[in-house]
Amino acid sequence: MSKKIVFLNDEFLAYDKAFIHIEDRGFQLADGVYEVILYQNNKLVDFDEHIERLFRSAKEINLKINKSKIEFKEIFLKLFAENNLDSGYIYLQVTRGKHPRIQTQPKDYNPTINAIANPLKIIDQKDLENGFKAITHDDIRWKRCNIKSIALLPSTLLKEKAENENAIEAILTRDGFVTEGSFCNVFIVNDKKQLITRPADNYILEGITRNRVIDLAKKNNIEVIEKKFTKEELLKAKEVFLTSSTLKIRPISKIDDNVISNGKAGEIAQKLIELYNNYCY
Ligand code: PMP
Repeated sequence: MSKKIVFLNDEFLAYDKAFIHIEDRGFQLADGVYEVILYQNNKLVDFDEHIERLFRSAKEINLKINKSKIEFKEIFLKLFAENNLDSGYIYLQVTRGKHPRIQTQPKDYNPTINAIANPLKIIDQKDLENGFKAITHDDIRWKRCNIKSIALLPSTLLKEKAENENAIEAILTRDGFVTEGSFCNVFIVNDKKQLITRPADNYILEGITRNRVIDLAKKNNIEVIEKKFTKEELLKAKEVFLTSSTLKIRPISKIDDNVISNGKAGEIAQKLIELYNNYCY
């Protein structure tokens, strides 16, 4: 088997040789942003949308990225080729780089850019048909969730709690309304077969998969409403599913102790899984 190759500061390096400085601002202050991009069948899925979001997140924290969209694309494609992967995902991170520790933002800096190509976890078809468990939890994160920040400690605490309860995700609520999952967006289907998801405000990350699912649903005569919904509406929903670049569309059939859509993946979720898979290939 060939060695894993990663990208760090303009170099393609062996995984075991890729190091970041002790005073990197990402390491010390979580001063950076990231992206995760799906790669299916030798194609980057929604690459433009992901890179545009990366630049948007970077702008929100005054971080200048000295690389173009085309350069990123070349790096990612080379990583998949070097690692012999025809599908998987890219983890890309940009920090404000190495700098003696100050609490403000340095004016002169060289961003640290690193990218890793990973294989995707294979999901069993039966599990997808049966749906997965999620828990609910108070949204303990900050008020700038629209920035894809690398400061993910609250999210990892939430995800850890979910896994300890044999669930795949924590669905978060703030002021009685569902925001999103710790690492994904949330959709429900009501009894009128309308697909509902929270509008993209500062309490959620505007998922690229979320937006693609909305687009595919509308093009296939599924009514979509972007509006806030409560925990009660979530638990009473006909269907619930999660979206992200690595989960894609993940049906939920149990939330806490509540059974959703008769304990199986719902009809609309299954239809959207098919549409999304066709879109990716
Ligand atoms: N919300 C959060 C908090 C996330 O971490 C993610 C995944 N990175 C998403 C939503 C989904 O975003 P996307 O569909 O672009 O992967």
